[in-house]
Amino acid sequence: GAVLGIVGGGQLGRMSAIAAARLGYRAHILTQDADGPAAQVAHALTLGRYDDHDALRRFADAVDVITFEFENISADGLDLLSSIRPVHPAGRILRISQDRIAEKTFMAEAGIPVAPWLAVHERADLDRAAEALGYPFILKTTRLGYDGKGQARIHDADGLAAAFDTLRPHPLVAEGMVHFACEISVMVARNAQGDVSTFDVTENRHSNGILDISFAPARIPPDLAAQARDLARRIAVALDLIGILGVEMFVDRDGSLRVNEIAPRPHNSGHWTMNACPVDQFEMHVRAVTGLPLPPAIRHSDAVMKNLIGPDDMALWPRIMATPRLLAHHYGKAEARPGRKMGHVNVLFPQGGLPGEFGVEAALGPLGGTR
Ligand code: ATP
Ligand code: MG
Ligand code: MG
Repeated sequence: GAVLGIVGGGQLGRMSAIAAARLGYRAHILTQDADGPAAQVAHALTLGRYDDHDALRRFADAVDVITFEFENISADGLDLLSSIRPVHPAGRILRISQDRIAEKTFMAEAGIPVAPWLAVHERADLDRAAEALGYPFILKTTRLGYDGKGQARIHDADGLAAAFDTLRPHPLVAEGMVHFACEISVMVARNAQGDVSTFDVTENRHSNGILDISFAPARIPPDLAAQARDLARRIAVALDLIGILGVEMFVDRDGSLRVNEIAPRPHNSGHWTMNACPVDQFEMHVRAVTGLPLPPAIRHSDAVMKNLIGPDDMALWPRIMATPRLLAHHYGKAEARPGRKMGHVNVLFPQGGLPGEFGVEAALGPLGGTR
């Protein structure tokens, strides 16, 4: 059987490797952590640093096609891998998603709506941004931000200097605050034949900058959901995507959509598909990168996904295991540090049957209510 190479050893690599195995592929993981989530379920090649070119070469030689879940591999490393084996999604796409300026520039060229923004290279640019965007606005690092790390909200002129000095390296991106009704995301997959499948729109709620809970389908009007899926499809086509891509969007209170950011890999907000869809985001991803046909992204149930974060949530694991309606996914991480994603649970409901807030809390059992 063919071997799928996955760069990165976290939970997304783990769940991709499991999906690959189900389709008869073997997975090789390139990882810094020989006992990490992905290395526990597939063959792992470990390296000290992702810029170790000998290790990258050995990895590429041992596999047939390469994908990634670790997004911060260098451009050089990507070029090296691409010179040996097909890399899907292409390095070009990863480079766009790694850099908020490149990402927003791409969106502008593709005619995709985003929040107003300005690149901030020097201190004077930040004054211009404040003038153009008004307060409050958000300042973000261009690269390496995740879970809301690497960004600051600036409420008045007094906050400018500190944010400019603290967030590094420069350049930064200043973004107008979107007054959103809710946050949503769409998972879109595309293969080399040009088949595109978009999953139903997910509604996402964050807590302390980290995704806390997702609802599928999003509780938004059908025409807006259709628009969101269409935006995701247009982005996939404009990128010439091969693989899967998560598109995060804001639903503005005025009813318009704005794309926040993209991630060219399976996405936390797509984890509900593991139990609510015959073909989940991980299988769709593996199918796309290995050149298999893409089935339509059918959803047979409504779903709520709840992340298990850090030691407090993991303390509830025995109770989760004792609650059959909680469909649990454990990432196998040794240490439950605060803020760390340790697993997630899905709860299914009949189609059209997502309950209100209290119903969701009740359905989540030990994970609901005042924790
Ligand atoms: P991720 O873990 O999703 O990669 P990140 O660190 O890259 O997160 P963003 O997704 O850009 O950061 O922002 C994190 C959250 O901050 C968003 O989900 C949203 O709640 C809020 N946010 C970001 N930008 C804006 C904006 N322009 N207007 C309003 N809220 C925003
Ligand atoms: Mg991000
Ligand atoms: Mg985000």
